[in-house]
Parts: sequence; structure tokens; C-alpha cells
Amino acid sequence: MAQFQDSPVPSTIAVIGAGPAGLMAAEVLAGAGRAVVVYDHMRSPARKLLIAGRGGLNLTHSEDFETFLSRYGEATARLRGAIEAFSPAALRAWCEGLGQATFVGSSGRVFPVGMKASPLLRAWLRRLDGLGVRFALRRRWTGWDEAGRLLFADAGGDSERVEAAATLLALGGASWPRLGSDGGWGDLLAGRGVVVQPLRPANCGFVVPWSESFAAKFAGTPLKPVTLSFAGRSLQGEVMITARGLEGGAVYALSAALREAIADIGSATLTLDLRPGLSLAELSRRLATPRGSQSLSTYLRKAGGLSPVAIGLLREAGVDTPDPKAIKALPVRLTATASIERAISSAGGVAFSQLDAGFMLRALPGVFVAGEMLDWEAPTGGYLLQGCFSTGAAAARGLLAWLEEGGAAAGARA
Ligand SMILES: Cc1cc2nc3c(=O)[nH]c(=O)nc-3n(C[C@H](O)[C@H](O)[C@H](O)COP(=O)(O)OP(=O)(O)OC[C@H]3O[C@@H](n4cnc5c(N)ncnc54)[C@H](O)[C@@H]3O)c2cc1C
Repeated sequence: MAQFQDSPVPSTIAVIGAGPAGLMAAEVLAGAGRAVVVYDHMRSPARKLLIAGRGGLNLTHSEDFETFLSRYGEATARLRGAIEAFSPAALRAWCEGLGQATFVGSSGRVFPVGMKASPLLRAWLRRLDGLGVRFALRRRWTGWDEAGRLLFADAGGDSERVEAAATLLALGGASWPRLGSDGGWGDLLAGRGVVVQPLRPANCGFVVPWSESFAAKFAGTPLKPVTLSFAGRSLQGEVMITARGLEGGAVYALSAALREAIADIGSATLTLDLRPGLSLAELSRRLATPRGSQSLSTYLRKAGGLSPVAIGLLREAGVDTPDPKAIKALPVRLTATASIERAISSAGGVAFSQLDAGFMLRALPGVFVAGEMLDWEAPTGGYLLQGCFSTGAAAARGLLAWLEEGGAAAGARA
């Protein structure tokens, strides 16, 4: 990969952030014949994409397009154009163009056949290299100088000023900050008059004030099968007990509503069905059999078919009789979101009201924004990466159109 050595000429476009959104933007820009330098403060690009690969790299989802779009909730209308222009089908074709065939899993989620990010990233970086994209790694963007030049600090603390024809920011959210995206850009943009909604955990775990003995015994134990219900939504899926609460796919799926309830009223009560395969009537029938000399735990395990962790949860809630109603609808009070450091993604970011139709910041002409740093959120299922790829491509097209209209010649930079 070509390393950045000297200051680029002013016709160069600076893409800051080498995650999926920034790299997709770089591909579109370089593919249009523009000189592009991608900056990142990490030693290597796309650290979070590589970690996403550990879970199989869920790239997108195969469901019907309107259902797909609806997963972006309030941001659907703002993302529609970008996702129509670079759709789930286009993402699969792009992936296959990089030699990584994809398949649809039983849940409708789309993965590369190899279930890994590294071969895809290697092929992508080779393509970018072929397009002449240069990389300037270990450079942290720290804002602009008084002349509107970009400021970067290198690992040794030296600073560098860069004049670019236009800038595309793809700095990510604030989850898993050790992978590079730490949300440090929020103050930089807010200081320039850009409205930035606070970054909050999304697809995250929650804090439950477990007793010490429960946490010691069950932290790290999967709870299955289980159905979770909150605010009129019920779903079955993966739940893990942690030392401080709950996490896992089913919890993440309800996390936006749970997080907002906690923000509004200080806590949220999740309802657990610990025996989702049995109706209340059938469970009641089974638990009407004589208990004899069996302990409550043994009886619940044998007659009720409950796992030790499910029995532990009932005890934790003070249930000391074989109560079928409690088993079918156990309330668990969540008191806070788990830390953003462990969340899959973040909500909040640059408000869409701050952007024009080409993803350019109205307050900072010539500065475009893409990816998770925009104010949208979505559940897991491939919607996050799709949103990042699509907005990366859309912001790059917006930037090209702006340049073609003479934006740079007007000297209208930050
Ligand atoms: C464990 C885990 C698993 C995931 N699995 C999936 C999945 O299977 N499917 C899915 O759709 N999504 C998944 N995601 C989410 C997905 O990876 C992110 O939404 C996506 O990577 C965001 O892309 P981005 O380009 O906007 O930002 P990022 O990938 O976060 O990239 C931003 C880049 O900006 C750089 N940067 C930040 N600040 C600065 C600065 N000041 N100066 C220079 N560089 C800077 C960072 O170093 C980083 O390289 C997962 C996330 C995690 C944490």
C-alpha cells in the first residue's frame, strides 16, 4: 500500500477515516479520476470492519427493500436515496467483484462465503492501490487552522497542515474506541457550529443490579431458550448474562427502545419468558404434578424443564414457589445502558439537518460526512455496514458534483 510522504497538492481530496464508509468514498472518488489521500490515526485501515468479521461479517440483509429501509427508523427518509443508489444487491455485486462470493443465511442475513473480513479487505485495498489511492496512517485529524487547512497530529506529536480540494469525514461513531473511532470529532464539529447529537450506545448491553452471588455464578452463561418483551415487541434470540447485566442479539434488538425508556424514566423493565416453547396452560399442568421431597431447583429443572440460569433468575427475583406465571413473564429491571466501549454501534452524531442533499455540511462548504458518524441507528443484521457503504458512496458522489460545480474554485472551505 502506498504510504503518504509529502503534502498533497491542493487538488487532492482528503478522506479522513479508513473504515468502510471512508474506503468506499475513496473508491468512488478515485474511480472518477480524482487524487485521494485517506487519513487515519490507526496503524492500519478498517480495524472495526476486521472485528466485525469475527462474527461472520454480516454485510447486509436480503429482505424486501422497503422492509429493509424501514430498519433505519426515523432516518429512513434521509438514507433512502443513498441506499437506493448503492443497494443491498449492489453491495453483494461489489463484494463478488472483489472475489468474495456472498450467501444468504437462514435468517436472511448476507455474509461473504468465507465468513471473514480479511480477504475482502485485502482485495479492496489492492483495488484502491490500483486506483492510486494513497494512505496516510497514524495521523490524527485535529481540526482546521486559521487558513482552513486540515490539521493532523502524527504519532510523535508533530503536526501537519494539509490543503485539500475537499474533505470527506468518515470518522465512525464511538463504540469500541480502541479500534479507532472514539467520537473525538464531536467537539471539533460542534466548535464550527455543526449540530451534533450526543453519541449514545446502540445495539448495546444493559446494567441489571444482580446480587453478588448471582453474578459470580452465572456471568458468562447464555440464557436459552428465552423470549424478551418490551414495549409491545417480543423476540426470541441470544441473551448472555454478564457480571453487570445482560447482552446478546435479542437484547441489542430491543436496545434503542430500552435506552430511550431509561433516559426518560430512569429504568426499563424487560419481561422474560423462560419457557417460550410451552404455553402457560401446559407449563401449569406440568408444574401441578407433586413435588414430593425434591428441592425447588430440582423440581423446576425436571418438571418445568428450566436451565440452572433460568432457575437462578427466578430466585434472583424472589420467586420461591413453582409459579408458571413468573416463569412465562419474569420482570427484569434494567437501570442503565452498558458502556459504549462494548456497544456494537452508536446512535447520535451529525444531524441530517446539517447536510445538504449531497451530504455536505452547510456550515462548512467542501466538507462532506458519511458513515456511522451521521445521526442514524439500525439494528444488527447487516444494516450498519450497508448504511456506511451507501452513505460513503453517496457523500463521494455529492463531493464530485460539488467540485464539478466549481465549489473548490470558489475557495469555500472551512
Ligand atoms: C464487534 C463488532 C461487530 C460488528 N459486526 C457488524 C456486522 O456484522 N454487520 C454490520 O453491519 N455492522 C457490524 N458492526 C458495525 C460496523 O462495523 C460499523 O457500523 C462500521 O464499521 C462503521 O463504519 P464507519 O466507516 O462509519 O466507521 P469506522 O469503521 O468506525 O471507521 C472510522 C475510522 O475513522 C478513524 N478515525 C476516527 N477519528 C479519527 C481522527 N480524529 N483522525 C483520524 N482518523 C480517525 C478510525 O480510526 C477508524 O478507522 C460491528 C461493530 C462491532 C464493534
